[in-house]
Amino acid sequence: MHTDKGFSHQFTEALLQWNRTENHRQMPWKGEKDPYKIWLSEIILQQTRVEQGLKYYERFIKTFPTIQDLAAAPDQQVFKLWEGLGYYSRCKNLLEAARFIANDLQGVFPNQYEDILKLKGVGSYTAAAIASFAFNQPYAVLDGNVFRVLARIYDIEEPIDTTNGKKNFSRLAGLQLSREQPGIYNQAIMDFGATICKPFPECAACFFSDRCEAFLQGKQLLLPVKEKKIAVKERWFNYVVLQHKNVIAIKKRASRDIWQNLYEFPLIETSGPASLKEIHLQLEKGFGFSHHDVIFKKEIFETKQRLTHQVINFSFYQAETCEVKDIPGFIWVGWEELNHYPFPKTLQEYIINN
Ligand code: SF4
Repeated sequence: MHTDKGFSHQFTEALLQWNRTENHRQMPWKGEKDPYKIWLSEIILQQTRVEQGLKYYERFIKTFPTIQDLAAAPDQQVFKLWEGLGYYSRCKNLLEAARFIANDLQGVFPNQYEDILKLKGVGSYTAAAIASFAFNQPYAVLDGNVFRVLARIYDIEEPIDTTNGKKNFSRLAGLQLSREQPGIYNQAIMDFGATICKPFPECAACFFSDRCEAFLQGKQLLLPVKEKKIAVKERWFNYVVLQHKNVIAIKKRASRDIWQNLYEFPLIETSGPASLKEIHLQLEKGFGFSHHDVIFKKEIFETKQRLTHQVINFSFYQAETCEVKDIPGFIWVGWEELNHYPFPKTLQEYIINN
């Protein structure tokens, strides 16, 4: 990663230049200096897409042109106007903050970052946006767009969703900020992330591609990194291939679990690797076989299968029964007929190889 000041300066300058000449992203609150309107737009956009938030913003500004108008409105009217936006705690906080400003601050919106941050429902991102857009104070915004842009131009593999990652990105965002034009810079980097350095970036149209670390290494789609991946569940499937002479016990999977409607052998699922003794015991308890009814013939065969959110550990036990026992849900079919039934991939492979 570049640590020299020259690199961050180059990006900031190039970004501001792009913003002056090529950034055509239009939004009604862009260039707005009224902190009330900026605050309103930011709260609406907290969990809402721009296209959806736009009409709500316009309706709110039309109905409540000033913060005093909003503060004086009955709860019901404000909630009705918010209807359809979801996350109603935002609306509750909006009203509480508007009434606090109208009553306790004589209707004057706070003009210092620390005071803005104290308003109900305002976090560090929103406070930085208001402080920089309305009051030109040097606070860098750090939203999903900014994380993505910084991770790529500097090639940072540190996860953005850890405490340390957030702290380091926040420090870097502060270093990158234009001290002379913090509001314009903040809006520009978010516009750049939303229109060029998107999740699938348009590097061919990017003014910084000759210096972007991720692009130069072909890593742009791998960044930013998140630590919290979707948990992969590990499972242990122990199949007992019960055979009597030439027939095998199989059953259709009916539960809403994986492989619904495919066939399988008697299954004993355990929470970890199981011993032969445990399998014997479960075969007795679950399928009604007594200890002498079944003879385990062969060493177990083990394999693994990875699914999107699961890893299945398979163990197959071949066992001979003394009779064709009636097991609820099971049918007994000949080995050669097994290919008429659909089986999950690993079971199919097992059948072919045995
Ligand atoms: S070159 Fe591509 S990845 Fe790098 S900043 Fe530009 S758009 Fe983003």
